[in-house]
Amino acid sequence: LLVKSEKIKILKEILGSYYNSGEESLFYCPSCKHHKKKLSVNLSLDMFKCWICDYRGKSLYHLVRRWGSFSQKTKWQEFENEHDMSEVPRSLKDIIMGKEQEEEQEENINLPTEYAPLANRKRKPTSFAAINYLKQRGITQEDILRWKIGYCDTGEYEGRIIIPSFNTEGLVDFFVARTYSGDWIKYKNPPTNKKLVFNELFVDWHEDITLVEGVFDAIKAGNAIPLLGSTLTEKSPVFQKIVENDSPVYMALDADAEKKTIKIIKNMLSYGIEVFKIDVSGFEDVGCMTKEEFNSRKQKAKLISNTTGLLREKISTLRG
Ligand SMILES: [Zn+2]
Repeated sequence: LLVKSEKIKILKEILGSYYNSGEESLFYCPSCKHHKKKLSVNLSLDMFKCWICDYRGKSLYHLVRRWGSFSQKTKWQEFENEHDMSEVPRSLKDIIMGKEQEEEQEENINLPTEYAPLANRKRKPTSFAAINYLKQRGITQEDILRWKIGYCDTGEYEGRIIIPSFNTEGLVDFFVARTYSGDWIKYKNPPTNKKLVFNELFVDWHEDITLVEGVFDAIKAGNAIPLLGSTLTEKSPVFQKIVENDSPVYMALDADAEKKTIKIIKNMLSYGIEVFKIDVSGFEDVGCMTKEEFNSRKQKAKLISNTTGLLREKISTLRG
């Protein structure tokens, strides 16, 4: 209880006066600055939501981090450690998302039987074409090992690089099969209905996440998730995990996917996610950059606070 009153004191310092209504405290919303107190803060659930602009978050610390001073942040974190977790309901995500989770049907995906890893020392002569293709795309031996990249020299996926996706239990849940032999179908991936986080086993949700279009982009970008042609809505597991973990996001979709990028950014901002936009202009995609080029562009990425500026930028480039 002491923690609660100390926390509300910090919030009052940051957001100004408030009033209580049932379990919630209502503050002025720093995001839309509505003239009435419409930001509902629930200390027991550690959540907030603005009834006007839908600014919301799963952790009150987000409010403090975004709008508070350094000393307020430090003070809050001290109290955070004393937080009584027994009060927190089991699935915060369900509450904040306001919807029941979709039933996930178990679906087994196996790597093609012909899959041969390319990290092996002893490789068949047929692997040279595959290795050359990867080299030419700037993929290193280290990447091959880390991403468990392989290839097929016969069968349905003949002449294709195989990049497997592992779920959090370390099981293969998907793979991407990219031709290295010039087949006119560039990608031939296994059919699946499951929405998944590609290679979630290797995603660190506590670090910043880069969203990219394809797997080859993700290899260059580090802690990255490829969207693989799908959009990103509140229903996507990628989106939900980002909100849950309050991970800062770097957007690095292809230069020609500006509309999609703006839509995703808008959606993320309404959930209080910190979003940065990486300039990918001059390259077809991140996969065409060297890691050094990508990292220097990531350093220069702009923090986005609203999408109006982005839209204006887009219109001016359209006008030339
Ligand atoms: Zn608001």
